[in-house]
Amino acid sequence: MKSLFVLSFLILTGLNAYSQDEYKVQEQQPIIDMHMHTGLPHKVPAGTPSLCRPEPCEGDVPATGDPTALLEKTLKVMDQYNIVKGFVSGVDLTTVLEWKMAAPERFIAAPFILKPGSPDLEKLRKEYTSGNLSGMGEIGTQLVGVSPNDPKLEPYFALAEELGLPVLIHTLGIGPYMPNFRSAAGSPLLLEDVLVNHPKLRLFVENAGYPYRDEMIAMMYQYPQLYADVSTITWVIPRTAFYDYLKALVRSGLGKRLMFGSDQMVWPEKIGEAVEAINQAPFLTKEQKRDILYNNAMRFLRLEDAEDVSIRQ
Ligand SMILES: [Zn+2]
Repeated sequence: MKSLFVLSFLILTGLNAYSQDEYKVQEQQPIIDMHMHTGLPHKVPAGTPSLCRPEPCEGDVPATGDPTALLEKTLKVMDQYNIVKGFVSGVDLTTVLEWKMAAPERFIAAPFILKPGSPDLEKLRKEYTSGNLSGMGEIGTQLVGVSPNDPKLEPYFALAEELGLPVLIHTLGIGPYMPNFRSAAGSPLLLEDVLVNHPKLRLFVENAGYPYRDEMIAMMYQYPQLYADVSTITWVIPRTAFYDYLKALVRSGLGKRLMFGSDQMVWPEKIGEAVEAINQAPFLTKEQKRDILYNNAMRFLRLEDAEDVSIRQ
């Protein structure tokens, strides 16, 4: 009996050691973060009890508001988790360009579009031509109540389609507390006009459209060019709710078009939590995790035949 107990103990500890090693290997493999920011997209109105929900704001992680300190912390976490590229946007274009200059190989720089008309299209075209910017969005106009199929956004989609840019859009049911934010303006079904009018657009949707699961599945089935990231919901909603949502998308056969993103705004510490949410998902195979953390973004960004981005310079 005693020897049986010892044998069981050895087997269990052996298995445990194996899974920990396996986990470390997964952690060290390269990751692409498709959703990063140089700060918050909006000013926080006086009297707002917190910066987001549920807290990390008043909870365990204080905000890092200074963009230089934020860049430093972000790069440190990227090193720690071997995040080799980040799709980064910010309302302040100067800061975005500073981040790009500080680590040109690490960032795909993009403007955050909060209101149609800003930044100006001609200014953007110049930045794309010069190579300073190479992505568009987050298009976050839902935060001010402008839906994706609003004609005012047409010129931005047209420019992105013309230049072949990857485009990130905020279209989902939740967002920051802002007076003109409308959940209804986040239905993924509103993307249909955009995708029909711009068939070559390389669009991906923040938070995979959470919590509009069925609408998102319909759009991804109908428009095979549409991708999604799993950004804020990796850490801002309960883990069980995130897993329910992710599992539904993967079981629908969409695992090859889901990409990792942290949606880090002023909490770089949350990047690691987001990575772990994928690595610890009990229903994903090793291959499915690699797809979400890296392979799908490589394909979407058309980097598969480019240089090996997993080797940092
Ligand atoms: Zn975002």
